[in-house]
Amino acid sequence: MTTLIDGKATAAAIKQEIADEVQQRVAQGLRRPHLAAVLVGHDGGSETYVRNKVLACEACGFESSLLRFEDDITEQQLLDCVHSLNNDPSVDGFIVQLPLPRHIDEQKIIEAIDYRKDVDGFHPINVGRMAIGLPCFISATPKGIIELLRRYHIATSGKKCVVLGRSNIVGKPMAQLMMQKQYGDATVTVCHSHSATLADECRAADILIAAIGRPGFVTADMVKPGAVVIDVGTTRVPDASRPKGYRLSGDVDFDAVAPLCSAITPVPGGVGPMTIAMLMTNTLEAARRRDALQN
Ligand code: NAP
Repeated sequence: MTTLIDGKATAAAIKQEIADEVQQRVAQGLRRPHLAAVLVGHDGGSETYVRNKVLACEACGFESSLLRFEDDITEQQLLDCVHSLNNDPSVDGFIVQLPLPRHIDEQKIIEAIDYRKDVDGFHPINVGRMAIGLPCFISATPKGIIELLRRYHIATSGKKCVVLGRSNIVGKPMAQLMMQKQYGDATVTVCHSHSATLADECRAADILIAAIGRPGFVTADMVKPGAVVIDVGTTRVPDASRPKGYRLSGDVDFDAVAPLCSAITPVPGGVGPMTIAMLMTNTLEAARRRDALQN
């Protein structure tokens, strides 16, 4: 029997846990956590992500602010916005939704964010602290996957884990966390577009995490029977039968792979909702840390 890892239900449970804690905070006279989101331009995907983040804030009882800019905003204007959020005592954490227009240096913007408010966990200080196992904000998607594995009691220690993809926001932090003793404690291999033995590596994996953005890339012949498969891929594939004209497709050929697995995440409804739930967890943590500093 294959376990379908339900990220939507798990994320809803986590948001309820957060909402309960926020209610207790408010009863104790503490502030509601406040998340701000900066959105540049009108990219359809980014609009949806930011809207969902604002809705999640409401579900958790957070305050939220949305700062919108047209895509002709200059890099300096965006840096000024980041500085003003850094210095705004009412804001616990904020995100700058990526991607940014090409004339803006994303890395420069990320590095301008105060790492104590960097609830996306993209700032080099957070990335570095994560790599050596110190308290930090961990990037929401890999953190959400670790949480799913934990809540579904999936054993990872000593297992062989293969991560497909080496991006800064998913692949690399995912591999780091799966390797670390206090999280995955697994033996980790990372594959990318230049990996010569990718299919062989996948076939040897007890836990396969696909984060490449290639719909249906992982086929049944690449998966060991009984493996756990986590599908991070979220690609819009044109589909005239859908009201929006597209559907979301994962990196895994779900119908063929699912019967082989011990557990698998669907797309949508797997990793995606967990990413937003972890952003809320990080924001709550930011508020807790600021309270601790003030007391
Ligand atoms: P990215 O920055 O484009 O990185 C993709 C990675 O996959 C790169 O390391 C690339 O290798 C590798 N890759 C691409 N094609 C490959 C191939 N044919 N064989 C092997 N490796 C290949 O993407 P990302 O931001 O990590 O996102 C990956 C996917 O996850 C996307 O579908 C994205 O939409 C999705 N995503 C989902 C969530 C969520 O919450 N569910 C969050 C973030 C991302 P090279 O380094 O060699 O180029």
